[in-house]
Amino acid sequence: MQRIAIVGASLAGLRAAQELRRRGFTGNVRLIGADPELPYDRPPLSKQVLAGEWEPARAMLIDRKALRSDDIEISTGTAVTSLDLGGRRLSTEHESIDYDGLVIATGARPRRLPTATPAGVHELRTLADARSLVADLSDGPQTIVVVGAGFIGAEVAATCRSQGHRVTIVEVAPVPMERAVGAEMGAVMADLHRRHGVDVRLGVAVDQFVGDERVAGVELGDGSTLEADVVVVGIGVVPNTEWLEGSGLVLDNGVVCDATLLAAPGVVAAGDVARWPNLLFDETMRIEHWDNAGDQAAAAARRLLATGAEAQAFTPVPWFWSDQYDRKVQVAGRTNDADEVVVAHGAVDEGRFVALYRRGERLAGAFGMNRPRHVISSRALIAERGSFAEAIDRLTD
Ligand SMILES: Cc1cc2nc3c(=O)[nH]c(=O)nc-3n(C[C@H](O)[C@H](O)[C@H](O)COP(=O)(O)OP(=O)(O)OC[C@H]3O[C@@H](n4cnc5c(N)ncnc54)[C@H](O)[C@@H]3O)c2cc1C
Repeated sequence: MQRIAIVGASLAGLRAAQELRRRGFTGNVRLIGADPELPYDRPPLSKQVLAGEWEPARAMLIDRKALRSDDIEISTGTAVTSLDLGGRRLSTEHESIDYDGLVIATGARPRRLPTATPAGVHELRTLADARSLVADLSDGPQTIVVVGAGFIGAEVAATCRSQGHRVTIVEVAPVPMERAVGAEMGAVMADLHRRHGVDVRLGVAVDQFVGDERVAGVELGDGSTLEADVVVVGIGVVPNTEWLEGSGLVLDNGVVCDATLLAAPGVVAAGDVARWPNLLFDETMRIEHWDNAGDQAAAAARRLLATGAEAQAFTPVPWFWSDQYDRKVQVAGRTNDADEVVVAHGAVDEGRFVALYRRGERLAGAFGMNRPRHVISSRALIAERGSFAEAIDRLTD
């Protein structure tokens, strides 16, 4: 293999490129990304950058000098438009790129509401989005409506509230963050926001925005209207796979891979765009978290270099964190489809606790608030396919 192309120049794409070099690959590594920026980190965008604590430039993951020293060629501002799988060729608007090995790392983009969006309605995925939102919030305390109570919406609400803005969260589901952490912990998070003065409206949809040139409010499905100077929409993401349609790869809410991350001979996928059977949980999953993007990209790069016999299944315990107010939330494993959720350590009222999630007899997941050490030990037990009973024993004071 002489030429490896990596499509998507963000966290997963960059980590794949670096892992190829670390493993001694000496051929051409070319990173191609639609974003005009060099690779940057997204988690600070809803935290330090939004809070004004960091200049956006601090979120950069690498500079040109470091890319050169690793001999990684990069094309920014370049969208790949199609893949010829049999011919091992990519197309952009201006050129064709031949490859021997391909890493797909095109991530995901925000889902949009099917309504007209006047100025002042934001999404938050890119550095450009963050700059535009920060600029819009710079005129002192404002009235902000956050549409969607997923983790990004919740972080935006917490950061804006901490900056003194008036914040309302509107969520169509009866419980926030249910998909990410289940109903019980979703209710705990809703309560956290209410105690910080956020107006949390659950079980109500957004009908449309009020205002022509600039947003002035949000009309809800229950007939009420919320005033708004600024709106942030965070209603989930969709994987960027349109450029792969008709290529022959299997697309189903992401690029479908085997357990070793191979999507086709010579083609691997990683990060928010990849869907693969995680044998540790006997479940096909697509993970939208930072740790997974980096780890999976490194595993995908190794898979590309491996001979068939060396190929290993990628079987991580998914893990993510979220910072909201003075709380650090950490979540390990699977928190959806739990048979039972038990607070096994600490107290919810004190804001320091760990909840464990049971699937059958197994420990499937752990949710910790300001208890990182306990989440890490539960994560290790999940990786060992440990029992729920043992996990409870270990955490009980
Ligand atoms: C505001 C925010 C806060 C977050 N906070 C956390 C957190 O606290 N904890 C956590 O675990 N995770 C967090 N995440 C999630 C984490 O950032 C993502 O999981 C991670 O960025 C995924 O990396 P990726 O490289 O797979 O995809 P992405 O970061 O989505 O990058 C994909 C790249 O591919 C490019 N691309 C798309 N299509 C094409 C194409 N056709 N041709 C060329 N390039 C293309 C895109 O421009 C993009 O740069 C957060 C995300 C956001 C947006």
